Amino acid sequence: MEHVDVLIAGAGFSGLVLAERCAAHGLKTVVIEKRHHIGGNAFDRTDSNGVLYHAYGPHYFRTNSRRVREYLSRFTEWQHVTYRIQSWTHGRYWSFPVNLTTWEQLTGRQGSEADFAQWLEQSRIPCPNPTNSEEFILSVAGPEFYERFFHGYTRKQWGREPRDLDASVCARIPIRTSRDDRYLREDFQALPAHGYTRMFERLIDASPNLRLLLDTDFMDARRHFHATHTIYSGPIDAYFGFRHGRLPWRSLRFETESLTSADLIAANRSHISGHTDFWQPALQVNYPNDFDFTRIVEIKHATAQQTPHTNLVREFPLADAPDREPYYPIPAPDTKALYAQYKALAASEPSVSFCGRLATYQYYNMDQVTGMALHEFDRLTSPTGPFAGLVTVP
Ligand SMILES: Cc1cc2nc3c(=O)[nH]c(=O)nc-3n(C[C@H](O)[C@H](O)[C@H](O)COP(=O)(O)OP(=O)(O)OC[C@H]3O[C@@H](n4cnc5c(N)ncnc54)[C@H](O)[C@@H]3O)c2cc1C
Repeated sequence: MEHVDVLIAGAGFSGLVLAERCAAHGLKTVVIEKRHHIGGNAFDRTDSNGVLYHAYGPHYFRTNSRRVREYLSRFTEWQHVTYRIQSWTHGRYWSFPVNLTTWEQLTGRQGSEADFAQWLEQSRIPCPNPTNSEEFILSVAGPEFYERFFHGYTRKQWGREPRDLDASVCARIPIRTSRDDRYLREDFQALPAHGYTRMFERLIDASPNLRLLLDTDFMDARRHFHATHTIYSGPIDAYFGFRHGRLPWRSLRFETESLTSADLIAANRSHISGHTDFWQPALQVNYPNDFDFTRIVEIKHATAQQTPHTNLVREFPLADAPDREPYYPIPAPDTKALYAQYKALAASEPSVSFCGRLATYQYYNMDQVTGMALHEFDRLTSPTGPFAGLVTVP
């Protein structure tokens, strides 16, 4: 049995940020990852035509946290992006998230912010404290937008009616009376200039005390190690042998299509995108009411990679099954109650940190997970933590 200071399960954002911090402070750190690659769901790679794409669905980095931005900037330069998406339904593309342009498309007439605000006031179904996603959208946008953009998409994405999901699910999408059609709200919106995988490779290279084992399941490999502290970023129910039953997850299937410039010319879609080297008019197109997939992402719109070829990723939601990857925790009262039982078990394991979206059964963006990992490192090295008194390395 090998002694290490820190044993980490998972080489995604949470595992690798904590690994880098621990290793930079001289702690002997081993990261165990069951997949054949680093980066978790943020993993990106190039296709057969050299086009960079996000293998597990689009990962739009954004943050309001200076600490997170400064920390990650040690390992990457940034490609600044304003993420813009559209929605396809009723036989046409729509400006999305809902904004003044969307309303003009719906009503077929031009108007002002005040006109749209007044229309919304008359359309929405007031609900002072919405408890689910249906109540939330009906109360802010009214039934026409709800049916057109939210109902079908949410049902397809989650396999549940919006009324059976927390309000927070649909509250993530802004609704604006201005012409502001930015998908996201945060101040800093950018992608790692050379991709997430390259950023993580640099993070690992900067850490001589860090050892990485790929293609290895933590649950099997942990018996070979004796660790002062363990950091676990896998699914919390698996850690405890599904003692209270399985937490439900939403799974996904990604279908990748590589298109050469010749394919694009043959497809003759330049009349839609306005460019000959893109397939669709925007980075992401949502399909709320047509097809089995929820969205098609053409990430080249955001990476700004200079190439005549392109890449599409179609995202198909899937029900949970033991042999499928867990992607999204399901935010609903019944699932929260089950998670609470696992959280109580986790509290009885002080030498294990449960970090990240799988171990806390909570959807987090990458910046939130990075912030959580930095915060956890602060805790581990605080006067009451297992590594109290470590020399601070910036
Ligand atoms: C489709 C999709 C789109 C997303 N889009 C965005 C976005 O646009 N912007 C954004 O900010 N965030 C986005 N996210 C969220 C983002 O993926 C997460 O914030 C981030 O990946 C969380 O990092 P993590 O380390 O907690 O989890 P993960 O990235 O899932 O990493 C956990 C790692 O642990 C490994 N693991 C699990 N069990 C074991 C085990 N037993 N042994 C060894 N290894 C194990 C897994 O293989 C995985 O690599 C998206 C997520 C999904 C699913």
